[in-house]
Amino acid sequence: MKQPKTPFFLIREKDLLYDISLLKNSLSENWGNYIAGYSVKTNALPWLLTYLKSHGFYAEVVSKTEYDLALRLGFPEKHIIYNGPVKDKKVFESLLLSGGYINLDSNYELDWMEEFSARYPNRHLKIGLRVNCDITSLCPEEAPAFGECGRFGYCYENGVLKNAVDRLSQLSNVWISGLHLHTSTKSRSVQVFGALAKMAVRIAKEYHLSLSYVDMGGGYFGGRDDMPDYRDYFKEIGKELSAHFDPQKTILIAEPGVSLISRATTFETTVIDVKDIRGRKFVVTDGSRTNLNPLVTRHLYPHHMEYLSDPSVRNTEPSQWVCGATCMEYDKLFEINEGPALVPGDKVIYDTAGGYTMCLNPLFINYFPAVYVELEEGSLFQAREPWTNEEFLQKNHF
Ligand SMILES: *Cc1c(COP(=O)(O)O)cnc(C)c1O
Repeated sequence: MKQPKTPFFLIREKDLLYDISLLKNSLSENWGNYIAGYSVKTNALPWLLTYLKSHGFYAEVVSKTEYDLALRLGFPEKHIIYNGPVKDKKVFESLLLSGGYINLDSNYELDWMEEFSARYPNRHLKIGLRVNCDITSLCPEEAPAFGECGRFGYCYENGVLKNAVDRLSQLSNVWISGLHLHTSTKSRSVQVFGALAKMAVRIAKEYHLSLSYVDMGGGYFGGRDDMPDYRDYFKEIGKELSAHFDPQKTILIAEPGVSLISRATTFETTVIDVKDIRGRKFVVTDGSRTNLNPLVTRHLYPHHMEYLSDPSVRNTEPSQWVCGATCMEYDKLFEINEGPALVPGDKVIYDTAGGYTMCLNPLFINYFPAVYVELEEGSLFQAREPWTNEEFLQKNHF
């Protein structure tokens, strides 16, 4: 197969299919009645969304823009899950009336429900509530991903969630049909998901909710052999949920992002130059840290090499810093200690590069790189051409 010009992202269909099956089998074996959603924000590549749709996935969206994208790519409204703290009223109304899944998150959405309940007295309106609970009190060794206190959903401990339930219960044509428990943690541990499932049970019992779904959100590990995978998570979740819920009546929803596409995706770059500066070696490549981690928070970049020539006969270098193509000093990716001297033409290939990368790239110095898909039968399909000034100049006036 002829290699395209670097830098580019590559999605291997075979590996993607592996993780899709792993997810579906885990949901099916541990619960049976399930909906597999996909978090659009994690990677909104149109090819990927269309592909997942053809495999039965629902689109989990958190903005009007993502909703519009999902519709344009052919997701029916019934197959859209609408989350997030800032919702669009028109989108909300449209999904409410067409049977989409809406998980309320903010105070104004309770007002909207009162309004829509009165406007559509003959319609049966179903919604879900996003739960905010204190993970650290449930699992003392867990740290939330960002700071001390998650900011999404209605707080269980201080009665705000109860208040939301009470307000909605006043509306005779509104049914609280789901709970949404997506919570980011640093550890992505199986134990946290067990605790969250237990929380769904506790809340449903305490507030006498009759639920048609429990949405466990995303935040799983995937694509790594040293970490838990869907089988572990959904075994634990299924075990906890079955204490109260019946798979015949209550659907288990999962909306993974990064865990579904990590294994399948690499970012491929080429060494352009090797510079010697006061005893240090800087290896210049045509990719960038901004392609892989635009927020420049990561310090680990899993990767492998493809050498242009036999590396075993090369000099060993005590230290080489692999750097990116931008002219920012921070654009250094990783250091190789005691490795074969890199030369122009060697390839540095970053693994698990699918989530929060190819659509989160800044339009900075260079624009979006190309995306290719290695189809199962072996051929290469170009899913996205690299952006050029044609795209950058769109809708500019000067
Ligand atoms: C981001 C997000 C996901 C996906 O998270 P991953 O860590 O990529 O699996 C799922 N649900 C909601 C509500 C999200 O915000």
